[in-house]
Amino acid sequence: MSQPTELPMVFVVEDEESFIEALDIGLKREGFRVSVAKDGAEALSMFDKINPDIILLDVMLPKVSGTDVCREIRKKSQVPIIMVSAKGSEIDTIIGLEVGADDYIVKPYRLRELVARIRAALRRSSLTPTEIDEVGFGTVSIGDVAIDPEQHVVTVRGVVTKLPLKEFELLYVLVANAGRVMTRETLIDRVWGADYYGDTKTLDVHIKRLRSKIESEPANPTRLVTIRGLGYKYEKMSA
Ligand code: CA
Repeated sequence: MSQPTELPMVFVVEDEESFIEALDIGLKREGFRVSVAKDGAEALSMFDKINPDIILLDVMLPKVSGTDVCREIRKKSQVPIIMVSAKGSEIDTIIGLEVGADDYIVKPYRLRELVARIRAALRRSSLTPTEIDEVGFGTVSIGDVAIDPEQHVVTVRGVVTKLPLKEFELLYVLVANAGRVMTRETLIDRVWGADYYGDTKTLDVHIKRLRSKIESEPANPTRLVTIRGLGYKYEKMSA
């Protein structure tokens, strides 16, 4: 069946037939085009040819792992990548985020949730600097860091940076509460939800990634500081 080319293409990299079939049907019904690769090597060889709008990348894949695929693709493309990991393998999630994935979803997931994540990731990646030139209502800014919650973009020293969803939410919570110590529990609760039972290292990974984007010296943070034994604080700086 031919698919209209103007629809966004989801590149499904998945080796489980039952998932492939359900995703193919479900995503097409939601208005996406779908291409499928069944192992990591195939994903890498197909990537350049099909030029997808977003990648749904399983971590456990034959031949080349999902994290290695992510790492390879990130060398040449900023295409949004959502990693898919099996329940209980939080370590996969952390590695996935470290190698540059934008978001992750844990199996088994509901199609509705997946589609919401895909749409959010596409929305963030489709914004051009011109579109986000004007900082709109609800923007919070401290010094040379401005956050626009409507557009999900952050401007650092005049440069527009698109952040993955959870990084964005985390930064927003911290900046909106600048000068206040935010405990680890509060941050996890606000960003990942009260029912989050994953590894708390996820928080540290996100903090690390945020620092690499907003600090001039990420190893010696002056904005997003650690409050030992408690949590983190975003410093109130004079403009
Ligand atoms: Ca798999």
